[in-house]
Formats: sequence, C-alpha cells, structure tokens
Amino acid sequence: MTKPFNSYEMAQAQFEDVAGILDLDQAARDLLRQPMREYAFAIPARMDDGSIRVFRAFRVQHNDAKGPCKGGIRFHPLETLDTIRALSMWMTWKCAVVNLPLGGAKGGVICDPHDLSLREQETICRGFVRKMGSNMGPHRDVPAPDVMTGAQHMLWMLDEFEAIHGAKAPGFITGKPVGVGGSLGRTEATGFGVIFTLREALKELGVHPRDTRASVQGFGNVGQYAIRLYRQIGGTVAAVSSWDQTAGKSFTFVKTTGVDPDELLPITNRFGEIAQGPARDLGYEVLPGEAWLEQDVDILIPAAMENQISEDTMERIGPRVRIVAEGANGPTSHEADRFLAERKIMVIPDLLANAGGVTCSYFEQVQSNTNYYWDRDEVLGKLDVRMTTAYVAVSEVARQKELPMRKAAYVIAVDRVAQACRDRGWI
Ligand code: NAD
Repeated sequence: MTKPFNSYEMAQAQFEDVAGILDLDQAARDLLRQPMREYAFAIPARMDDGSIRVFRAFRVQHNDAKGPCKGGIRFHPLETLDTIRALSMWMTWKCAVVNLPLGGAKGGVICDPHDLSLREQETICRGFVRKMGSNMGPHRDVPAPDVMTGAQHMLWMLDEFEAIHGAKAPGFITGKPVGVGGSLGRTEATGFGVIFTLREALKELGVHPRDTRASVQGFGNVGQYAIRLYRQIGGTVAAVSSWDQTAGKSFTFVKTTGVDPDELLPITNRFGEIAQGPARDLGYEVLPGEAWLEQDVDILIPAAMENQISEDTMERIGPRVRIVAEGANGPTSHEADRFLAERKIMVIPDLLANAGGVTCSYFEQVQSNTNYYWDRDEVLGKLDVRMTTAYVAVSEVARQKELPMRKAAYVIAVDRVAQACRDRGWI
C-alpha cells in the first residue's frame, strides 16, 4: 500500500537535500528544517441557523530572518497542520528566491466556503484575527489570500485588526480590494508571473511561444491569468481542467482551436465552475479530470492543488511535453520530479514560477505602508523585472552547478536565508 502523501515530509526532504549541497552546519539545519512558531486554535462561529460551529485554524511562521513573515490564509475542508507547515516553509524559500525582504508563513482554516454563507465566512475571518491578531501585524506577519479566500476575506480581516488596534494599518494584510489599500495588478500577478518565467525558459530553448501549446490544471485565479498572458504572448491553450463541485470530481475541457477564458468566464460566473453542458455548447470536448496530463502539448501548467503530478499520474504525461511550469504550490511529488528529470522535461519550480503573487503582495505592502499607490503598468513592469531577474539567477546556478531548476532555486533561497540567520547572530 502506498504511504499517504505528507507535504511537510516532502518539504523537509527537499530542504535536507539542499542543506547537503550547501554543506550547512547542524544549527542551520535544525533552525530551518522546521517552523520557528506554530499556532493551532479554535474559532467558534455562530451559524445563520443560530447554532455555534467550532472551526479549527492554523498559522505557522516558518522563518523571519529576512523580514516580516508573509503568506496566505487558505480555507479548505481537508486542511492539516502539516500542509500548513510545508507551505510556510515554501513561502520562506519563495520570498528568498525573488530576494524580497520578507520571511515565510501560512495559515488555514478547516472549512468549505461552498457550504457557508458570506456572513458565516465573515465571522470566521474576524474570529481568525481576534485569535491571532496579537501575533501578526505589518511588521511581524502579513497574511494574503490563497485557496478559496479572496479580497473580501482580507478586508474583513483588516477591518477587525484595525478595530482592535484603533488605527488604520493597511499594511497588515495584502490582496485587499483596489481602492481600499489594494494594489493594481495583484489579481493578475501570480498567473502573469508564471508566464514571465515560462517566456524566459522558452527564450533559452530558442522556441517562440506561438509555436507552443499548453495544458492547464485549474481555472481559478492563477490558472485564468496564466492562460490570458500565455495567449497574449502567442501560445495556444489546448486544455484546461477544473473541479466540478456538483459532480464531486474534476473534468478536462479540450478545444483544438484553443481554450478562451473570455468564453468560459460567463459559465464560471453563473455556475461557480466550468459546467459541462454549457462548455459542450461552446465546442469543448469534456474528458476525465486527469486527461489534462495526456494532451499533445509542449507545456503543462499545474495551477490547482498540491501533489497532482505524482507516481500515480506521471506516466500519463504526453510525449511532447518539454516544460512544466508550476503555478500551484507543491504540485509535483519527489518521485515525479525524478521521472521528469529522466525524461529531460524542464520544471520551473513553484517557488520561482508562482512567486509573482508574493512579489506583488510585497509591492502592495510597500504601497500600503507609504499610502502611495502605483499604476497597473508600473506594478506589472516591476513584477516582470523581479521575475525575470530571479529566473535568470536560478537558471545560471542550475547551469553552473549542473542542477535541476528546483534544486538551483532552493540553493539560492536556503543560502540567502541561512546567511540572514548568521548575520543576525542566530546561528
Ligand atoms: P482558486 O481557488 O482560485 O482556483 C483553484 C482552481 O483549481 C479552481 O479552478 C478549481 O476548480 C481547480 N481545482 C481544484 N481541484 C482540482 C482538481 N483536482 N483537478 C482540477 N482542477 C482542480 O486557487 P488559486 O488562487 O488559483 O490557487 C491555485 C494554486 O496556486 C494553489 O496551489 C495555491 O496555493 C497556489 N498559489 C496561489 C497564489 C495566488 O496568488 N492565488 C499564489 C501562489 C500560489
């Protein structure tokens, strides 16, 4: 029987591997292989029917040597403390790869927003801040949206934080709506960031995007904007897979002429997901969820959940695939990573490829803390520069040390964080 997947064990194994390459001393390993601080707490919330439900929640601050912690808060029915630990560690490395003056954190609440009214979700958001607010703040730990949370959740949390502290503090949280401390470009940032790095990878391979096709898993925030920019630079999206809440499973939507987010968006706006019937009416073929892996494409963009390219699914990857650009966090298992390397498929690792979100969150923090806001082109231009610089640095280390991109990105990140810990005299 296969051992159940544990993302924290995977994150620690990845770290140990890189610690070996960097020949880190024992103190550095002991400090960095686990989080600095972890909080597990209960949020009692009154439901619309008058009953009280108690939601389990977590906030994990992995390391803050380089600056205040930064990381999203997820709502997910299957959330676990180990997943949050792993994600907080990946945030530390992600911030360091793009050289942001920030540390890493992550939070989560065990709940399914599909089963909760907006008022109930607001109660959970405010409860989260009431329980955790004294351990967070603009100069300590700054949350952001993540899976199944968005701008509205952030604003409720900010409002609660400001009510408790009796002062405006827009730098407490990012992913806020534009006009209430949010940054232009934040919605696009993660998906666009994936494509900025993909564009650089294609440049290195000497391939024009217009001669490529991609298959995308996930049609949420990351997937949608990755699809948009990839199409803008000339690429064709052959397939997109998404979760169908009603059916309780995922489906892949294929269109030979290319997936068009503008024609799918009215469907998701109306049904909350890509509904099969309306998609068929638009000429999409509907296939099982995992079919997104098997398409005749050059590029795979996993932009949904962790562990989607694994021992169980990796053999299904189409023969033409040359690049996997990881929009999601931790979408590729350790075994699948080795398999992809053997097949000479380049992986642009999550900590680099999806760092556009945290980079723009950092821009938002800077703007909120100074109360001066940039226009969209300035934000996205600065994002492009950061992502491209980070890609080039990772690619150079990969070449020099003959490492896959993931290891090269880790080497840069862990080295920077370990150095910050040494500079502070912690180790
Ligand atoms: P989202 O909730 O907006 O969208 C998730 C999408 O994935 C939805 O379209 C859903 O239908 C689909 N999905 C879920 N399970 C699936 C499955 N089994 N098969 C196919 N599709 C499935 O979430 P998001 O913000 O786009 O985040 C996606 C991933 O990117 C997550 O791993 C998240 O941690 C990571 N990420 C997000 C950001 C950000 O700024 N939003 C930043 C960095 C990393």
